Amino acid sequence: MPLSLHNTLTGKKEPFVPLIPGKVSMYNCGPTVYQYAHIGNLRAYVFTDVLRRALNWNGYGVKQVMNITDVGHMVGDGDDGEDKVEKTAEKEKKTAQEIATFYTNAFLEDISTLNIDKSKIIFCKATDHIPEQISLIQTLEKKGFTYITSDGVYFDTARFKDYGKLGNIDLAGLEEGSRVETNPEKRNKTDFALWKFSPAGEKRQQEWPSPWGVGFPGWHIECSAMSMKYLGETFDIHTGGIDHIPVHHNNEIAQSESATGKMYVHYWLHNAFLNIDGHKISKSIGNTLYIRDLISLGISPVAYRYWLLTGHYRTMLNFTKDSVLGAQTALVKLIHHFIEWRQSPLGIENADYVKRFEDFVNDDLDTPKALALTWELVKDKKVSAGDKAATLLKFDSIFGFNLSTMSIPKTEAEEIPPEITLLAEEREKARQNKDWKLADAIRAEIESRGYEVKDTEKGFDLRAL
Ligand code: AMP
Ligand code: ZN
Repeated sequence: MPLSLHNTLTGKKEPFVPLIPGKVSMYNCGPTVYQYAHIGNLRAYVFTDVLRRALNWNGYGVKQVMNITDVGHMVGDGDDGEDKVEKTAEKEKKTAQEIATFYTNAFLEDISTLNIDKSKIIFCKATDHIPEQISLIQTLEKKGFTYITSDGVYFDTARFKDYGKLGNIDLAGLEEGSRVETNPEKRNKTDFALWKFSPAGEKRQQEWPSPWGVGFPGWHIECSAMSMKYLGETFDIHTGGIDHIPVHHNNEIAQSESATGKMYVHYWLHNAFLNIDGHKISKSIGNTLYIRDLISLGISPVAYRYWLLTGHYRTMLNFTKDSVLGAQTALVKLIHHFIEWRQSPLGIENADYVKRFEDFVNDDLDTPKALALTWELVKDKKVSAGDKAATLLKFDSIFGFNLSTMSIPKTEAEEIPPEITLLAEEREKARQNKDWKLADAIRAEIESRGYEVKDTEKGFDLRAL
């Protein structure tokens, strides 16, 4: 079955046809680097990693671009208030650049622990693309889509007739529902800032001269400017979490299509949210979890990845420690099976299983069914061990558990609890990435649970203390 994907723009699952045969251009809305990415944010990037793998599976070369938002994203996601990065800088008594660099590196480390293949992604920072953003605003100004208020340059959404087309947004509802204070100088409530002036008498850490005055870009313009710079005025796929549909992505469409007169993106894909213990992830509830917290709960990030794939990317997921630990047990079993099969010479991929697997993947990335099929393969007595290993390796090109690198010592594994073994795997990976801090933290965690990890030439050894 050819690949089909659910397109938010049409509200339908559609056959995927790229603009250029054999090639795919994809932009992923990336992190705002003012704090660690929480496990909900990280769901968005596991999703795009699996999507890229599915495109590769189907023979496409993929140009994947992800932005790093290091300026202009305001607390509350609107046009007013404080800049998230600058606010954290003030609180932590650091420069905005130090904050952005620190959390960018933390993000890159976090996504590595989830086996998200960074080497496939072109990362671009908003602050490295100020001239491109200014030039796009100038184009919009020339075409009459902008107006100037006392605090910035705004996009006039009434001038874009399709405003709100993505997800068929109920604009009246959006306006009423908005908690953001309305700016009396805005012509329409949905208008948004393209360029904000630095507040009078105040020097921001991050500010640049522009034809309209010293200031900084609005949050939405960076994604249009950078995506079109790297992928062209029209490209294939744009992703983000569903929260971006009503405002951020509709604003991107409005400013890009007004500037170029062309369709901006063909396929818009959005991942559903992750809740924790039945609640929205929220600072006020205090339920936010980061990769570090997973590790101290005894959950390996790869097991978290496995658990995410047990749900469809468009289904809301509810994180509970027990359900993710259950997924971890399943993953460890799978690793053990794989290691056992690898005692035989590697066989050939089982064509029937690969075909059925592909049908699930190509059906809008149905990873839950693909995982269920994997367990059917495990139990199938008619397939030889060598062929099972080869088939599972093929499946893993989508799952991204990196089974071929797993090296759990067989005799020890029986006595060591799965979460400890996975933590040791995680530590090994951190060591390979020369992330000594994380490796030491994981060692301490393993020891606090009563086990000792020793590095050997072949990998690691685990034993009870
Ligand atoms: P941000 O750094 O706030 O721009 O968000 C990064 C990405 O995470 C965006 O694509 C959001 O849509 C997505 N996101 C934020 N919260 C969640 C959540 N609870 N579950 C899934 N995705 C989320
Ligand atoms: Zn974006």
